[in-house]
Amino acid sequence: MKFDPASQIQDLHQFGEFGDVNPSITDSATYTFLQAKTMTDTFQGEAEGCFLYSRHWNPSNKYLADAMAAMEGTEAAWVTASGMAAITNTILQIVNAGDHIVSSITTYGGTFAFLENYLKKFNVDVTFVDITNLEAVKAAMRQNTRIIYTESMTNPMLQISDIPALSTIANEYNAQLVVDNTFTPMIVNPARLGAHIVVYSMTKFINGKNDCVAGAICASADFINSLIDVNSGTAMLLGPVLDPLRSSSILKNIHTLHIRMKQHSYNAMYLANKFTEAGLSTSYPGLPNHPGHEVLTKMMNKEYGYGGMIAIDLGTAEKAAEFMEEMEANDVGYLAVSLGYFKTLFSNSGKSTSSEVPEEVQHDMGMSEGLVRFSVGLDNDIERTWQRIKLSIKNKEGILK
Ligand SMILES: *Cc1c(COP(=O)(O)O)cnc(C)c1O
Repeated sequence: MKFDPASQIQDLHQFGEFGDVNPSITDSATYTFLQAKTMTDTFQGEAEGCFLYSRHWNPSNKYLADAMAAMEGTEAAWVTASGMAAITNTILQIVNAGDHIVSSITTYGGTFAFLENYLKKFNVDVTFVDITNLEAVKAAMRQNTRIIYTESMTNPMLQISDIPALSTIANEYNAQLVVDNTFTPMIVNPARLGAHIVVYSMTKFINGKNDCVAGAICASADFINSLIDVNSGTAMLLGPVLDPLRSSSILKNIHTLHIRMKQHSYNAMYLANKFTEAGLSTSYPGLPNHPGHEVLTKMMNKEYGYGGMIAIDLGTAEKAAEFMEEMEANDVGYLAVSLGYFKTLFSNSGKSTSSEVPEEVQHDMGMSEGLVRFSVGLDNDIERTWQRIKLSIKNKEGILK
């Protein structure tokens, strides 16, 4: 039987205490016990189905975590108060002082800043590589490499990571392959392709409403339990727990994720073709000329398409700014960071989400200062949106030169 992330979620049986079709929201920080011994057992992780304190586990968070684990096909998951919390807690749980990480040079700006600036505090060394160059990845590996870190589809260049190949390299060195799958939920299931840990910013496509910030870590039960160990678990001790009111609202949104991803992908493919025909320098993994097209085609669950992200290159930051303002004036969408929203969002990566990345590194990444990243929305009439973009191009003559 084919693994289908949406069907996995639909097969969950999650009810509230009165048969509520949506699980109850557990609005409590602490929990009572009738027997003192059960409390002791719970502390030691030996009492099935008991909850102790909401920094450790909250039932509402457990429902959402179970849905994330089902979607990824992992044994377990844990939900966090942000995507950055998922990423930083995962990394800090794995590495010790003196360890080494190999990371894609194109990652989310916050992740890059954490790896490049923050981990120095702990004497953890990071080598940045072009993650699509497997020889470079191999050459960067050391005996003390504990993590290969990448994004399935990297931000903002939309490079595609060859997860099975990276997994093979990681396994040779007994390292963990950690994959941020924020751009491609449902489309790619990194854990099924050999990733050891999958991290998410649920702020983006998974929640899809831009009404909160949240994250998730999907992994083996052993890893999740180690994260929340009362004595040594990074998540338990740093405490980046998600609020249960939020997790219950995200859980409801997950149930429409498969429909949304298909529409984001359909609309993005449509625009990517139109952009190309109009002569714009266009990067979209669904186009056969994209360097990662073949790798993604091999890895993906095809029915969800190639995702909602497109990057176009206008050459200069000035042209990018003019074009984005014009598109906003013509109701194409919003000039805003973030992604996975029902409206189309666009931003100039170099001046926004990748501004933590120094200019010379942006240059090494092949990132132009005129790069405009689109998160294509759920527009019901994408042809109408294209007409508005065309009008924006026309009004800003010179954009194409
Ligand atoms: C937004 C984002 C993050 C950070 O997530 P937050 O929820 O904002 O903390 C990490 N990785 C990627 C790829 C992102 O797009």
